[in-house]
Amino acid sequence: MTEQAAPPLLPLDEDWESALAVVAHPDDLEYGAAAAIARWTAQGKRIGYVMVTSGEAGIDSLEPEKCRTVRESEELASAALVGVDVVEFLGHPDGVVEYGPRLRRDIARTVRRHRPEIVITTNFRDTYGGVFPNQADHIAVGRATLDAVRDAGNRWVFRELTAEGHQPWGGVRQVWAAGSPDARHAVDTTDHFAAGVVSLQAHKAYLKGLGGDPANVAAFLEPMARAAGEGLGVRYASSFEVFSLRF
Ligand SMILES: [Zn+2]
Repeated sequence: MTEQAAPPLLPLDEDWESALAVVAHPDDLEYGAAAAIARWTAQGKRIGYVMVTSGEAGIDSLEPEKCRTVRESEELASAALVGVDVVEFLGHPDGVVEYGPRLRRDIARTVRRHRPEIVITTNFRDTYGGVFPNQADHIAVGRATLDAVRDAGNRWVFRELTAEGHQPWGGVRQVWAAGSPDARHAVDTTDHFAAGVVSLQAHKAYLKGLGGDPANVAAFLEPMARAAGEGLGVRYASSFEVFSLRF
């Protein structure tokens, strides 16, 4: 019996200058995507972060009113470590984000303002490739992000955005979902794996709340990066599911 080889992953398109990452919570990008972000900002690409919530329900021992500012400041520090200095928070409620027109409109507004070529989000499939279920906010936000990219380009959807001065933007070529079990693409992060590790370690209060040791962050991230790297033929990589908005 021969062992089945992991399916090869295709290299992501890097012929772009501007991306916007839209995720549910502070820390979502740091579980694998941050190393790729570090690579791209090192190339001179411009990337902004949008957090749909402030992750205020993420620390059991800290009430949301206090937790919000802690997690926002940890995300700002985390982003800065991978070359991102624009982080916005949309203020939707952590844990109970609802997919719907309001969420799509708020994301479409950020897409129109930033005018990116690539939009990055996280896995919004039902599971992480097996029995481990995805989290409800991730599913709502990923799905809404994909839809909001189309909304951003349509003048007649969310007409209030145009009235606010946000002109339609149809320039997004692809949406990339990090950590998807259906990923078929990846990018080499061998030289930026360490930046990804410190970016997750910046979530000090959050990791402490989970009972984890920040020293173990590298050991947690390494197998995922190595598995994606094997698919790409490099040491470490970040994988993404690619949705093309253009034929
Ligand atoms: Zn999350």
